[in-house]
Amino acid sequence: MLSEANGSIAGAGALLNIMRDGRARTRAELIQLTGLARSTLAQRLDALLSRQWIVPTEEAISSGGRPAVAFTFNRTARVVLAADLGATHARVAVTDLGTTVLAERAAEVPIDRGPEETLGWLQHTFEEMLAETGHRPEEICGIGVGLPGPVEHSSGRPVNPPIMPGWDGFPVPEWLGSRLGAPVLVDNDVNIMALGEHWAARPEADHLIFVKIGTGIGCGIISDRRLHRGAQGAAGDIGHIQVASALDTVCRCGNVGCLEAVASGAAISAKLCAAGVTAEDSRDVVRLVRGGNTQAVQLIRQAGREVGDVLASIVNFFNPSVIVVGGDISEAGEQVLAGLREVIYSRSLPLATQHLTITGSELGDRAGVIGAAVMVIEHVLAPGSVDRSVNPA
Ligand SMILES: [Zn+2]
Repeated sequence: MLSEANGSIAGAGALLNIMRDGRARTRAELIQLTGLARSTLAQRLDALLSRQWIVPTEEAISSGGRPAVAFTFNRTARVVLAADLGATHARVAVTDLGTTVLAERAAEVPIDRGPEETLGWLQHTFEEMLAETGHRPEEICGIGVGLPGPVEHSSGRPVNPPIMPGWDGFPVPEWLGSRLGAPVLVDNDVNIMALGEHWAARPEADHLIFVKIGTGIGCGIISDRRLHRGAQGAAGDIGHIQVASALDTVCRCGNVGCLEAVASGAAISAKLCAAGVTAEDSRDVVRLVRGGNTQAVQLIRQAGREVGDVLASIVNFFNPSVIVVGGDISEAGEQVLAGLREVIYSRSLPLATQHLTITGSELGDRAGVIGAAVMVIEHVLAPGSVDRSVNPA
């Protein structure tokens, strides 16, 4: 109570939050940082030590030259299970609390086989990988799953996902959580990619947009360092914004004129096929661009301009400091970015683009799985969750 009256931190969770940067700190340093009374700090430290959230180290030397006990965040206290399930392939990882990957696998797993077969495969794979890393099920602090469709984040259930037959309303957290014995968080693939990229490659960016250009198009929004999901979790669905060049094209959502209908990997490969060039999907398109196929290069630059057209409005509206471009089509690199930059810099307000960086994804196809782990870590290490873990009701 006294500490709260002094305006210092209240609980063990808030203390752990300070220690998450991984620096070892002595009691004296922690008292200085938090304003806690020595006895209160001792209680908090004991609580965190008892659950192994922190560990003692002896690397710090006190001013008197004697080694003083210091404490540091224990990244290996728990493990996280993370999965990025795409339309046709999946990437799965076991990580520690700092997103260090302890085991990782990629496999062809078509999402249209339905939830029970797909999640059954995921459960089995998680169990195998956990055993591989030598960890026990009790050490799992949470499971993060990304899905290639709209998800109501609060319930973890997919909502009318267009390419996922059988998944609408399926209770993913309950199904997986009851079998693996840990809480499950679910979000759409673009949101977790934004989280992963922000955490691993752009932690300094307060406002970031992650645009995925693959079979479809969508974006994840980091606002004030937090993922912005919107009221129903539908924020960032830019693929179905109307663009002038698409007004005579029907989109898979049933509307006409959607960005996705002219600029996605599916749209580009369809245009190539119509021109007599064989291209089944985004990966074929990228292969053709890399091989110097002129039609593919022209189409992908044009797609970059179309996406840039929509993003130019979003830059004016949201004023991000970084736009990261990911997804299969972004593997074509500078050809996509060139078209995008061309339009954004010429169409957005100068003040909004003055310090704007537009860049490719650093994590590439790992962004999703790292982001799924970040989603879990942020949840588990939130001060309230840590308080409950050290002081169960
Ligand atoms: Zn549409």
